[in-house]
Amino acid sequence: GNTDQTFEALVVPDNKQTLVILEDQSAEHDINSVRRDFVANVSHELRTPLTALLGFIETLQGPARNDPKAQERFLGIMAVEADRLRRLVDDLLSLSRVEETERSRPTNPVDLEEVIRQSTELLEPLAKTAKTHLQVVAPEQPMVVPGDAAQLQQVLHNLIENAIKYGATEAGITVAIHPPAYERSLQQECIRLTVEDQGSGIPERHLVRLTERFYRVDDHRDREMGGTGLGLAIVKHIMNRHRGRLLFDSTEGQGTTVSILLPTVIENLIRQSSIP
Ligand code: ADP
Repeated sequence: GNTDQTFEALVVPDNKQTLVILEDQSAEHDINSVRRDFVANVSHELRTPLTALLGFIETLQGPARNDPKAQERFLGIMAVEADRLRRLVDDLLSLSRVEETERSRPTNPVDLEEVIRQSTELLEPLAKTAKTHLQVVAPEQPMVVPGDAAQLQQVLHNLIENAIKYGATEAGITVAIHPPAYERSLQQECIRLTVEDQGSGIPERHLVRLTERFYRVDDHRDREMGGTGLGLAIVKHIMNRHRGRLLFDSTEGQGTTVSILLPTVIENLIRQSSIP
């Protein structure tokens, strides 16, 4: 497939709930085939809107030359396709920038409530259009982790945007910060952020693949939603850099909760990396 990493997936069936823990276990072994796959996928993703644009240009120059109604309609479609191209290029750039930073540890103190506030403010209009609403739940005291504020904001933005695009309901979307707690999976104290929707959920077999580049649960539907298929790949790389974790918990027909775990202490990050 088009995976760029391999994951250790821990699937814990609990009634109908599924919890999948993604862990980056990438090895250098097939880095070259991964690169080839990626280039092939990018080419395909760029080609689709480009082909549409070229087709409509041809039509505008020929058959639709004297048909203002058709011209207007085609220009509308062309604008959508051009916008798709722009978003794809933006996300490819984000991905490459995030990859570039992955070797350095982010150490600035980041106030997570501030990060959430900024992301929800930006996405409020999209939520309104999708006939849903965002609610934020945060403890009284400030929740601070060592990190990169802009990158963490991108994480929250991508997760909340997904909840709106794929999980909008009248019940709303809850973004919560949980007080620091010891996380066995990371063997250290972490702050957990959750983005919870009550949408249709994600079938279990897809959960381990969501962070692959260009992976979509329903290729046609998800393209229609305007996603590039890179959002969660970007999130994964940012979480790797923060030595954190990304977890998907989804029940079909009931909704999806995406959690991120962020270590609260930077010293532990070094210790963590020596754990096999
Ligand atoms: P995109 O940029 O296309 O939205 P992502 O990498 O962000 O791609 O997400 C990958 C896929 O995961 C989406 O195409 C969608 O099918 C699925 N997905 C992500 N979040 C949710 C959610 N909250 N509910 C249902 N499906 C989701």
